[in-house]
Amino acid sequence: VRTWLGNDATAARARRRCEQALSEVEFPVPFTVQAFCQATSIASGKQLALHPMPIGWAPAGLCGLLAETRTANHVYFTQQSSVLAQATTIIHECGHVLMPDGGGYSQGILSLDLPALLDQPIMSLRGRVGFSSDVEATVELFASMVLTRGFRMAAETGPEAGDPPSRLEDLFG
Ligand SMILES: [Zn+2]
Repeated sequence: VRTWLGNDATAARARRRCEQALSEVEFPVPFTVQAFCQATSIASGKQLALHPMPIGWAPAGLCGLLAETRTANHVYFTQQSSVLAQATTIIHECGHVLMPDGGGYSQGILSLDLPALLDQPIMSLRGRVGFSSDVEATVELFASMVLTRGFRMAAETGPEAGDPPSRLEDLFG
């Protein structure tokens, strides 16, 4: 068990928060990242749009970005990582959407020229660069819980029980 979350009581509280958030989402069957984003859109009442980051666009170490506008949540994810890492980044950002904490602007990413946002003002913006805060650790736990559950379902109900690589690709439906 990974413990970014300090002591046991803190970790237990984080897990309860994640379970609460998950209970408000209709978990997609079969599980794909896209389907989970759709479920997140419905649960949050705001469209969640996925955008691959253009190569070389984001500062090094930034693997994901969540930009909220009045009408949508825009999730940017790096393509320069494994499919599983991309899935984790995207579900991590879904966790922020489903467990709002007041939001805020991360420093250093304000100057990015966010594609696809057009003229919508950004209400909050955050990057996935580390898990130093309880908020970041909690949404990271959320991502691991969702993917664990998705994998378990795929193993139990998938038409072809099989090797993880094919399922990783299946993650993106
Ligand atoms: Zn984050």
